[in-house]
Amino acid sequence: MQAGNVCHSRRCAPVVAPHDSAASSSRSRLQPVRAQAEASPGLLAKLGRVIKEKAAGDYERFFKGTSKTRERLGLVEELLTFWSLEDYEDTLEELEEALITADFGPKTALTIVDGLREELKAGSIKTADDMRSALKRQIISLLEPASNSSSSSSSSGKTSELQLQGEPAVLLIVGVNGAGKTTTIGKLAHRLSKEGARVLLAPGDTFRAAAAEQLAEWARRSGAKMGTFKEGGRPGGVLAAACNDAKQQKDVDVVICDTAGRLHTAYALMEELANCRKSIANVLPKQPCETLLVLDGTTGLNMLNQAREFNDTVPLSGLILTKLDGTARGGAVVSVVDQLKLPVKFIGVGETPEDLQPFDAVNFAEALFPAAKQQ
Ligand code: GDP
Ligand code: MG
Repeated sequence: MQAGNVCHSRRCAPVVAPHDSAASSSRSRLQPVRAQAEASPGLLAKLGRVIKEKAAGDYERFFKGTSKTRERLGLVEELLTFWSLEDYEDTLEELEEALITADFGPKTALTIVDGLREELKAGSIKTADDMRSALKRQIISLLEPASNSSSSSSSSGKTSELQLQGEPAVLLIVGVNGAGKTTTIGKLAHRLSKEGARVLLAPGDTFRAAAAEQLAEWARRSGAKMGTFKEGGRPGGVLAAACNDAKQQKDVDVVICDTAGRLHTAYALMEELANCRKSIANVLPKQPCETLLVLDGTTGLNMLNQAREFNDTVPLSGLILTKLDGTARGGAVVSVVDQLKLPVKFIGVGETPEDLQPFDAVNFAEALFPAAKQQ
């Protein structure tokens, strides 16, 4: 991918305008890709909701993007269709196994099956459609940590809507290599810019020039600004410089910080991530207002370990699941949310700028088991 604003020499600030190049190395600076008007007051606080509401009409894209995930649940669907009320214990046992096979994990599968058993005992399930609707209800209640009364996060204000606060608001995006961080940042910049927010992308993946080129290309496509890149530089320093510029120049509403991919088991790299967070907070004490873990939706239950380790290093405020258009494992999504009590904020369902969909638990459950009638 060729990035329009990026300098291709090994060590340089890639997004500084050519006539500024002499001064570029001495201080970090930003180059507006296009002039943007000042955002209206209160815009930021509303943006998460606005984006979610607008995407609600885009269910078709959500549904199409989750078709492979749906296919993987064929076994569960079959069981629901042919179960019989007389021997529901057998069906529940088989359902538990089918859910485990579909990546829900033993703990979450058991929670779901126990919930269904309660409803069966209470006599509220009689038909296959009842059973499917009950299963969807169970999944929705697990996927909505903020509204789940038994959840430890019910009072913590964690919600699936993006929470943007501060001038500027800073988002820190973390995850393992190849999870889809940079692509997600680009899509997010596109969504936010479209709603009138002035966005700055901060290239905290300082290991590879190609990473900054990829980010700069997304900045160009979305009309965001691009922060100064310093190959081999300290990521915390690069992110702090971007936040500082945004703070001083007051021309940015949202700073989105990219980071290098790292294995959740690599201690030194995880510590570096904690430093990134501190560096941002040193400049803007209330930031980052969101620390979002990007998870590759095709990795199954391994997501759970990743999410735990990242959450221990940099307290996460939510998850973004990518590649649900691939051979994704929707069950693992339910398991991660159930066990970590972290909301999913967005899902990635393709590689175009529009392919980042705000997460909606009801839509997701509906997409997994579409044949059920709403109750
Ligand atoms: P990073 O290393 O975490 O920054 O990952 P990248 O953003 O570079 O993405 C790695 C690969 O995954 C790229 O080829 C992206 O185009 C692809 N990718 C990211 N998100 C999605 C998605 O939602 N769907 C699909 N199909 N591919 C994606
Ligand atoms: Mg990247």
